[in-house]
Amino acid sequence: TPDFAQRIADMLTRQNSEQVVRAVDDVNLDVRPGEIVGLVGESGCGKSTLARIISGILRPSEGRILLEGRDVATMSEAERRKASLSIQMVFQDATASLNPRKRVMEIIGEAAVVHGIIRAGDMLAYVCDLMRRVGLDPASRDLYPHQFSGGQRARIGIARALAVKPRILVCDESTAALDVSIQAQILNLFVELKRDLDLTYIFVSHDLGMIENFCDRIAVMYLGRIVELAETEALFANPHHPYTRALLKEIPTLEPKKRAFTAIKGEMPSPLHPPSGCHFHPRCGMARELCSAERPMLRETGEMRFSACHFAEELKAQELNHVV
Ligand code: SF4
Ligand code: MG
Repeated sequence: TPDFAQRIADMLTRQNSEQVVRAVDDVNLDVRPGEIVGLVGESGCGKSTLARIISGILRPSEGRILLEGRDVATMSEAERRKASLSIQMVFQDATASLNPRKRVMEIIGEAAVVHGIIRAGDMLAYVCDLMRRVGLDPASRDLYPHQFSGGQRARIGIARALAVKPRILVCDESTAALDVSIQAQILNLFVELKRDLDLTYIFVSHDLGMIENFCDRIAVMYLGRIVELAETEALFANPHHPYTRALLKEIPTLEPKKRAFTAIKGEMPSPLHPPSGCHFHPRCGMARELCSAERPMLRETGEMRFSACHFAEELKAQELNHVV
């Protein structure tokens, strides 16, 4: 319901203003139709905040969201509503975002009725169809969220998002709380839905394995900034940023279950007091004097490739040597 959504939004905003001055700083990300873009980084890097700004749950204090070239902030109320429906968020933990006092039927179908996508009289058929589409038994439509398994709740969250006919799904670690086998099933569902419904995805994750197999392009975030942006294969073949390189080194190969970013040397600094110049310099093995003095901007370092490192060209040169 609107007020439940509002509560979540208030909660997030509050969290945001208490903890973070600039959770996301000067980020520029374009997403093309039909693409799957991964947003990765250690926890606290601002990726969830960015996901919430993209999906309209949080408003950026500065900056713009452009949809098909148009600034969302300058749209009329009706256009803005339509725009906000076209970008839907699927939450990390479906359990926390499903109203426990509502039946699944209402959870999934209510917004579609409220926004005039379907008539109230068509809700039953509409919800049953959506439930089938995401692999839920429509016979369970009168149950409450707690009567489902974690994987089924994830499917409920996806059905609810799909109900308003979005074109972009923003998925915030929506499979992280699940078993690996259930995660794989949900990812397969995302692939199916993308094919059938022509969707575009922004996937927020700290799980590099998942990102590698699933995404077309990857944006790596560090302390509120995108530090590298590249097509998945190119990024894995040779990162143009020392932080990305460190992340890739961290992938343990024997235990796929633990393919998450954790132990880069040193702690992630607080976003309240980010280091000067390049935010990564206290942890960077390649850091030089320039790095603490001057902020490196995200710039083109190759075809469809961007890096925010003063010395990206050195990493790039290693790529060339590698090929030879
Ligand atoms: Fe490291 Fe300097 Fe590049 Fe930052 S700018 S990633 S500190 S080499
Ligand atoms: Mg998160």
